[in-house]
Amino acid sequence: MRNLIHLPSEDLRCKNWQIEGIMRMLINTIDSDVAEDPDQLIVYGTGKAARNQEAVRKIIEELEQLNEDETLLIQSGKPAVVFRTSENAPRVIAVNSVVVPAYANWKKFRQLEQKGLTMYGQSTASAWAYIGMQGILQGTYETFHEVAAQHFQGNLNGKWILTSGLGGMGSAQPIAIKMNGGVSLVVEVDPAKVERSIKYNVCDVATDSLDEALHDVKMAIRRQTPLSIALIGNASDVYQELLYRGNIPDVVTDQTSAHDLLNGYIPSDYTVQHAFRIRQQVPEMYLEDAKRTVVQHVKAMVEFQKRGAVVFDYGNNIRQQAYMAGLEEAFSFSNFIPAYIRHLQCEGYSPFRWIALSGNPNDIYKIDQFILNRLSGNDRIKRWIQFAQANVRFQGLPARICWLKAEDRIFLAEKVNEMVASKMIQAPVVFTRDHMDAGSMASPLRETEGMRDGSDVIGDWPILNALLNTANGATFVSFHHGGGVGIGYSLHAGMSIVADGSKQMTEKFHQVFLGDVGLGIVRYADAGYDIAQKKAEELGIDIKHQ
Ligand code: NAD
Repeated sequence: MRNLIHLPSEDLRCKNWQIEGIMRMLINTIDSDVAEDPDQLIVYGTGKAARNQEAVRKIIEELEQLNEDETLLIQSGKPAVVFRTSENAPRVIAVNSVVVPAYANWKKFRQLEQKGLTMYGQSTASAWAYIGMQGILQGTYETFHEVAAQHFQGNLNGKWILTSGLGGMGSAQPIAIKMNGGVSLVVEVDPAKVERSIKYNVCDVATDSLDEALHDVKMAIRRQTPLSIALIGNASDVYQELLYRGNIPDVVTDQTSAHDLLNGYIPSDYTVQHAFRIRQQVPEMYLEDAKRTVVQHVKAMVEFQKRGAVVFDYGNNIRQQAYMAGLEEAFSFSNFIPAYIRHLQCEGYSPFRWIALSGNPNDIYKIDQFILNRLSGNDRIKRWIQFAQANVRFQGLPARICWLKAEDRIFLAEKVNEMVASKMIQAPVVFTRDHMDAGSMASPLRETEGMRDGSDVIGDWPILNALLNTANGATFVSFHHGGGVGIGYSLHAGMSIVADGSKQMTEKFHQVFLGDVGLGIVRYADAGYDIAQKKAEELGIDIKHQ
């Protein structure tokens, strides 16, 4: 699916901008400049935007014919049915990768997938809200900013961070570490990904020699200069070797696709080509080798922690994989959410994003300018927007991500809607968000790990989130299973809303964003977090029972 987004920006193929906006989001998600593997419809990690090319074609066809009072239902990446609903209802509702809990494991899921009954949709892949690397970049920036604040007096100057994976999400790490002043050594097994990281300035230098990489690390630390070094190798082997040599980084994490040991994670001594062959031909052997590798990998991370490094799981379920493969101490280190993000989400501060449906970068720059003028009191936001303007390359439709609280989301969306109405910007804008948002995720090994009241595995909240967004009439509402941690480990919901310049949308923003973010605040307040309880009061949310 290539070049489909280069539509004349104001010519509608659908009956209104609400529908057109969602259609452009789908097409954008699988654009060759956005998706990791557009031919297979893999958007990032192992998540697909739609079941197959035929399903994409049919979804687009349905959206082109959809009436203003109809809703298209998507079942795991294929169009299921169109119902007459109302103009106020969502135009698209999707449910992806959900299986009945007792059967929620990879083995069963793969069988169902092979029968053509489902697909794996991760989060923003099948919510058609992926915008390329920028989406994860600010989150990664926020995470390393917190790491710096909590452990290193506010910046990573002269600090060495060891991590892995230069995929769609992982590539944000070296940039975010550099933004915080640090030196990163990123291990990646696929030479093509390393080459790409150099081409797009994700990393500064690349090598396949650990000696050379360590020399660069040492020099950069000595000079206190931020630097990102890509090292071709298997993370598990490199981590072991560093321990053996006694090289202990300041911070250690990992973003290989460990959530999926068969299709994402690459065992020790395998090249990418070898991995491709063996996973097709002898999957049992592949899995055995992957399990051995992941145990060694996490064992090394535990050891780094014992020797003084700050170590955290970066949302890829690597601890659970190692634990299931027999490593009892796999959970010795925390995951990044309780450690660095939860207190922010208790106030509803989490990843919000918007996409210019015109395809015109100036629409985004005008919104940037508005934020710089009107939210200039917030240094963190200001610094991010300035950095993003200077450094982020748009992939597909021009877009911006910025962590914002409910009240700022409402304010911004209303103002942008006015900009659309007055033609100050060329075409409507879609507002959407990550699934790692306050109330939209139940994920006991990530977003809801270590909840104060022990409610880590309670799955009600993301379902309430999707239902509330449907009741409030967001343009697109989705519910998913699996996300970044895999089948059986998370339930989550997505939402998008199109600012088409109409008065009706201005009225909706307050309701939709207060509900979407507010429910997250309620979830944390319910679990006993004081910051969330205070924030709910401030927003006038009347919590009934705590
Ligand atoms: P990806 O599949 O695009 O990239 C993973 C990379 O890891 C690939 O380039 C692969 O070659 C490399 N790799 C695999 N095994 C390796 C090994 N043993 N040694 C070295 N390199 C290896 O995945 P992605 O989109 O970058 O996501 C990475 C992980 O992070 C996934 O598990 C994903 O679910 C998770 N994730 C985290 C967050 C977050 O907020 N922290 C968000 C979304 C996803």
